Amino acid sequence: MPELPEVEALAGYLRQRTVGRRVDRLDVAAVSALKTYDPPTSAVAGRTVVDARRHGKFLDVVVDAGLHLVVHLARAGWLHYREGFPSAAPLRPGKGPIALRVRLDDGSGFDLTEAGTQKSLAVYLVTDPAQVPGVARLGPDALTVDQSVFAERIRSRRGQVKGVLTDQQVLAGVGNAYSDEILHAAKLSPFALTDRLTDEQLATLHAATRRVLTEAVQRSVGQRAAELKSEKRSGLQVHARTGLPCPVCGDTVREVSFSGSSLQYCPACQTGGRTLADRRLSRLVR
Ligand SMILES: [Zn+2]
Repeated sequence: MPELPEVEALAGYLRQRTVGRRVDRLDVAAVSALKTYDPPTSAVAGRTVVDARRHGKFLDVVVDAGLHLVVHLARAGWLHYREGFPSAAPLRPGKGPIALRVRLDDGSGFDLTEAGTQKSLAVYLVTDPAQVPGVARLGPDALTVDQSVFAERIRSRRGQVKGVLTDQQVLAGVGNAYSDEILHAAKLSPFALTDRLTDEQLATLHAATRRVLTEAVQRSVGQRAAELKSEKRSGLQVHARTGLPCPVCGDTVREVSFSGSSLQYCPACQTGGRTLADRRLSRLVR
């Protein structure tokens, strides 16, 4: 699932290529992806792209006269920029991976795609991004929040730090992958309770958040410039690396179920060498 670094890179990539271009047409193929009906999608035709921004994990393509095409890529969504399209024919509603297509006046444009059968990509056409419920609820941005606000936000929600860090209302932009990376960099157990974190641990966590996200944005921007089609992440230390050696200490990266998914961590770096118990299993055993 694209998180803050990937969406930040996509926004930058789109700014370079689409700002100043006029929209010829917006076609919706996956009708269920479009969450708004007023203004209609035909309202963007003839308008000029003025910006592409990020709000948490949401991408916002702004056209003149204040219309925002706000996109949540969800688990398997992506944006593909095209230098040109093979056919000028309108996109037809159907079951293919393309959910939405934007054509620009120079023949270029972009497709929003979603792989798999579980469709949760969401697109909103609004006059103010805050009209999108998920955007309105976002906490401060995880990349730019200062240390005191960061500490205040994390402490505002009592729970396991993994869950709190990925709660978009607490901080915007961090998901399952980068929270694994941030907690590893901060040498914190994903199950540490937020109300027991010391000031020093919160300062370390803040610094780790900023460093991990900044480096990931830089890697994503480099990757996107070369190949926007590549959704693969590089440079991860623990996330999706179960069974591989931790690049910091050489211990084996472990996995444990968390919140309907799984998380990865390094026992030596993060939990004093202890293996975290799978809560679902231990509940069954007990
Ligand atoms: Zn380690």
